[in-house]
Amino acid sequence: MKEFEFIKRLASGLDKPLSEIGIGDDAALSGGVLMAKDIMAEGVHFSSDAPLRNIIFRLFTANVSDIAAMGGRAKRVLLGFAKPSGLNSEELIQAVGRAAVFYGVEIVGGDTTSSKNGFFASLTVLGEPGGHVLRRSGAKAGDVLYLSRPVGGALELLEKELRGGKDFSHYLFEAETKLGSFLGEFGVSSCIDISDGLGRDAGHIAESSNVRIMIDHELIPMYPPERAVQSGEEFALLFTVPPGKAEELERGIHRSLGRPVHRIGKVLSGEGVYMGDKNVSLIGWEHS
Ligand code: ADP
Ligand code: MG
Repeated sequence: MKEFEFIKRLASGLDKPLSEIGIGDDAALSGGVLMAKDIMAEGVHFSSDAPLRNIIFRLFTANVSDIAAMGGRAKRVLLGFAKPSGLNSEELIQAVGRAAVFYGVEIVGGDTTSSKNGFFASLTVLGEPGGHVLRRSGAKAGDVLYLSRPVGGALELLEKELRGGKDFSHYLFEAETKLGSFLGEFGVSSCIDISDGLGRDAGHIAESSNVRIMIDHELIPMYPPERAVQSGEEFALLFTVPPGKAEELERGIHRSLGRPVHRIGKVLSGEGVYMGDKNVSLIGWEHS
């Protein structure tokens, strides 16, 4: 069973959630707290050569990014490790300290055990929502689609790593913490972070919002569009805003963050994610 099918089946067998937001968004919202979790497994998310510092930074990024995608701020984390005997614990401790300081999160607990087969690391993050909680489901026909920064670089570096390269800088892509907070105060119509790839993640917005998304390949910044739609674990934000608010949003981001975001398409009625006449909603990364 594929990852997305598994999650759908799992969720459909559960009682109706009591929480404000349950399974299906970047984070859950319960009792006014945003919550998300991510796991990294050796051989699946990282190779055995990858430095602990990079692996742990990437673990924090994935979690903090999910809170940013909801328009919130990450505050506290719980850590989980299954450590193989050869692992350098001192290096792990340092890596954790560094990542926690970088993202300004407090480590409030976790669990540690041993592993007979490879290193596993997991994080649970708790965050504070902004003035608006941003969901995947609010995009409306007519909205403008934005990408926070160019995507494609993670795929390029991952391919090099899979060919035996020793450049692990794609683990150091940063979560869009400042932009997430800004969008959470501004209130955009939908938002997601790019973890599976632009095609698939736009697909999650399209499916949750019951809309069609059109990506204009000429507007994709920096990388070839057919590569950009596939590249996962980028942690850029993808978001939509009603056309009447688009200029105000662009100006606000420029004023507050001193940088642009990229208009890459629009929302229509219908379904799927199209670049030209090609449906790209199933293109991307899936840990099957
Ligand atoms: P993201 O890429 O934003 O981390 P995922 O694709 O991992 O999101 O997960 C999609 C949704 O499914 C999220 O709401 C997540 O909390 C939920 N989910 C994923 N795996 C599980 C699981 N094993 N049990 C319960 N919920 C899960
Ligand atoms: Mg996410």
